[in-house]
Amino acid sequence: MGSQLYMYITLVCMSGVLNLYLCLYAFSKRHKYTNIANYFIFYTAALSIYSFASGMSLISTTLEQIKLWNFILYLGMPLSAPLGLLFVMSYLGVKLTVKRSMLILLIPFITILMVATNSWHHLHYRVFELDPNLGAPYVYQEIGIWYTVHGMYTFASLFIALLLLIFHWKETAKAYRPQLIALMFGQLIPMVTAFLYLTGFTPAGIDPVAMILWISSLLYLLSISTSSLFTIMPIAKDKIFNSINDGVIVLDESFRLIEYNQASKAMLPHLNNSLFGKNFVEIWTDHTGGTLPFKLGADVGDIQELKLKLDDGERIYQVRTTPLEQARNRKGLLLVFTDITEIKRLQEKLEQQAYYDELTQIYNRRAFLQQCEQDFLAAKETVYPFTVMLLDIDHFKRVNDTYGHQVGDQVIMHVVNVCQRQLQEGSCFARYGGEEFVIALNGYNETEGEVLGNRLRTSVEKAPLITPEGNIPVTLSIGVAEVKDWTEETLHQLLHKADTALYAAKQEGRNRVKVFGVGAEVRSSH
Ligand code: GH3
Ligand code: MG
Ligand code: MG
Repeated sequence: MGSQLYMYITLVCMSGVLNLYLCLYAFSKRHKYTNIANYFIFYTAALSIYSFASGMSLISTTLEQIKLWNFILYLGMPLSAPLGLLFVMSYLGVKLTVKRSMLILLIPFITILMVATNSWHHLHYRVFELDPNLGAPYVYQEIGIWYTVHGMYTFASLFIALLLLIFHWKETAKAYRPQLIALMFGQLIPMVTAFLYLTGFTPAGIDPVAMILWISSLLYLLSISTSSLFTIMPIAKDKIFNSINDGVIVLDESFRLIEYNQASKAMLPHLNNSLFGKNFVEIWTDHTGGTLPFKLGADVGDIQELKLKLDDGERIYQVRTTPLEQARNRKGLLLVFTDITEIKRLQEKLEQQAYYDELTQIYNRRAFLQQCEQDFLAAKETVYPFTVMLLDIDHFKRVNDTYGHQVGDQVIMHVVNVCQRQLQEGSCFARYGGEEFVIALNGYNETEGEVLGNRLRTSVEKAPLITPEGNIPVTLSIGVAEVKDWTEETLHQLLHKADTALYAAKQEGRNRVKVFGVGAEVRSSH
């Protein structure tokens, strides 16, 4: 055995050992890794079989032994390049189904079959015998048609994997580029060596690929230890772009569509790549039948709101427009659509709860005071008359005691309904307390307030609540007070005056309207 052969065997064994180490290492840690490690385990296993069998055939002394090891070699070698491709694909985030993976491995499986049955058809090797000059382990071979198919398929797998890696170079963050380099070499090294072998630049009678596989294995090892190959993977930018929940649309300076992500199809389901280059306003009109409901070319960070009727009901979007500086001073526009429907609904619900009385759905005391204070101050500016009215249900406790709390609630709602029918829309009418209500009468003097008070009082009196247990009569006592001294009076004082008048109405026998007069004397009407 020549020293050259020793060197070949050493190199091949080195490839085998390194690949076996990588395979076992990835296998032992597979639970910690992302599922791309599975492809790596099979890939390095195939390379180990290839390398070791290659080494064994180099120490073989008979044709039979060589043929046996050559067959074992073929259990790994044809699978290695397509497995490498699958590994690269999953690394780059290409979706792989079992069916698709199996399809990619179909040719290698046929190759294994072809090699196993070659003596019957000679489609893989036309001739496979010991080299007449050099003898074992050197082989003289003439390749058959299937060998060419297998060779081309292997080459294509390596080449496609390399291309995929090259295409992802630009969008891969710098930190991940050493991983890409290791993967690229993993493809490039066997490709170049196989090419040199086929063109006769390497020693005759021996497959040199297994001799240099250790180089790529070393690079993989380096990648695993320095940049956490498997555990951290670069995620392609378009993956990120498409996984954003917000709709993102990019337009050029003439508002032509350049890019959109998957989420933007929730608003414009008909968006597709054939619309690239088309004016976005036209796209919108074509698809929604309406004009664009927000401004394009708005200021930096401009935020607008957009309501859209979609198949699953009305949705509300916040539209953020941001100018983009593109290459060569060309400006573009970034539109980000955030679905704020749920937030809006929650906001409305909270507002409703904060400002409206749950039982009657009219303003609560807090909302009234806020609203009335504004009207009060506005009236103060113009010195317009301003009156408030407090209304209280008479002997309401009796209703609760006689008919129960639920019927009591019905009486409260009934009084609200009757009063609302008498009031103008937009009147500031609120539930002030349990069975007490308040109305702000902007522009009314006390006499007009008294008239309205009596109208409300008689309407309620004439409309008892009709229940299965009989009609329940309801009456109101009402206190009215007008601002008399704009320089001194506050809203609080005005409400206090109305309360005094209401108290007087109760004192005098209920079901009446009382007006707070100057000097605290109270005018009564019944
Ligand atoms: P007056 O003629 O002097 O106003 O007598 P009244 O019984 O109407 O007044 P009082 O203030 O003594 O009683 C009011 C009652 O209203 C006490 C409380 O239990 C009841 N109440 C307060 N809020 C509600 C409510 O939301 N639903 C029901 N059913 N009752 C309520
Ligand atoms: Mg009462
Ligand atoms: Mg009361």
